[in-house]
Amino acid sequence: MIGFDLTDEQRELKALARRFAEQEMIPRAREYDEKEIFPRDVCEKAHRAGLMNFAVPRELGGAGMGVLDTCLIQEELNYGCAGMSNAISANDLGTLPILIAGNPAQQREYLGMLVEKLSFCAFAITEPGAGSDVASMAATYRRDGDSFVLNGTKHFISNGSVADWIVTFATSDRRLKHKGISCFVFPSSLPGVTRNRMHGKLGQRAADTGEIVYDELRIPQDALVGREGEGFKYAMGTFDRSRPEIGAIAIGVSQRALDECVKYSRQRVAFGQPIANFQAIQFMMADMAANLEAMRLLTYKAAWMVDRGELPNAVSSQAKLFSSEACMRITIDAVQIFGGYGYMKEYPVEKLMRDAKLLQIYEGTSQIQRMVIARDLLKE
Ligand SMILES: Cc1cc2nc3c(=O)[nH]c(=O)nc-3n(C[C@H](O)[C@H](O)[C@H](O)COP(=O)(O)OP(=O)(O)OC[C@H]3O[C@@H](n4cnc5c(N)ncnc54)[C@H](O)[C@@H]3O)c2cc1C
Repeated sequence: MIGFDLTDEQRELKALARRFAEQEMIPRAREYDEKEIFPRDVCEKAHRAGLMNFAVPRELGGAGMGVLDTCLIQEELNYGCAGMSNAISANDLGTLPILIAGNPAQQREYLGMLVEKLSFCAFAITEPGAGSDVASMAATYRRDGDSFVLNGTKHFISNGSVADWIVTFATSDRRLKHKGISCFVFPSSLPGVTRNRMHGKLGQRAADTGEIVYDELRIPQDALVGREGEGFKYAMGTFDRSRPEIGAIAIGVSQRALDECVKYSRQRVAFGQPIANFQAIQFMMADMAANLEAMRLLTYKAAWMVDRGELPNAVSSQAKLFSSEACMRITIDAVQIFGGYGYMKEYPVEKLMRDAKLLQIYEGTSQIQRMVIARDLLKE
């Protein structure tokens, strides 16, 4: 039996997030994007409204939301601004390894901090020399008495320069590839950690993207998350859960693009009539609507599977792949429908197109999603 009804609570959540997007995000989106302003003020309001840290369990003061509910919120926030939403929701990525493998003390300390007051965390795995090929990371750790000592550089890290704590990955020996990688969590204020904001992104420019350097960073043994040598597994487990959320981000950006196109095409006159009368324009919008429905079905299914305790890594990848590719096409067509005006910052669609591009890159590029899906198809 398949049902598509949302509960009253889910409808209210969606309405709350949409109101927030319309009142707090859309009016600021263009300026924050242009000037690369990190939206701390918007995050403060989102935190107060219960629109941050969705996955933190109820016993730690959080909302304890599942992935499907989180996707419903993501959709609406990203309707407002994907860059601001990145700032609001990057905590989810840092939260996941702690939920998957953190001990009760780590969960209390680090997840508790996120709900207590506005604070940020970062999930730092990517390095200048190792992105898609996670297992070839160069950041190292060694044991030294009661401590671990970390050295290395992480970059392109969401909320990297504003994070209050960091969950990161390092290897004991590069030759061990994924088997050498462990996961650690620690406050970002420790000596041995330096952070810089990276500037000049194409899209999602309000979001903070940082470089984090560990230079003889000394952390206690209880900074280890889960078991030594299992960090790669926790990172992949994180992505199985987080990739449906990228599907939801793509839905939010695409829905905004479609709504803007419907409105504009009714107003813009060419050859003596609204461009909405032209079949070429109608067909682009019809394709957008059909793709949006398919994105929703796939994303909700992946989220539903995660919430049931399955780890649908191929389905999560399908949701991310299909939705982010569709979002790119939809936003490119949106610029086309707006014509020359679509190319100008005065109208919202060029930003949607720039914001969409990142969805095909982070949390595993589209090529990497295809590899995950193909591996699942071909496994014995
Ligand atoms: C704004 C932003 C925010 C980000 N946030 C985070 C974050 O919070 N935490 C974090 O850890 N990382 C983050 N990232 C990093 C992101 O996940 C990586 O950029 C991404 O995984 C790709 O890695 P790369 O940039 O090194 O590209 P590369 O791995 O160098 O890939 C380059 C190209 O080669 C392709 N390619 C690579 N390997 C293969 C293969 N085997 N087969 C076919 N094609 C292949 C890729 O698909 C891509 O097209 C962020 C990145 C950006 C831009």
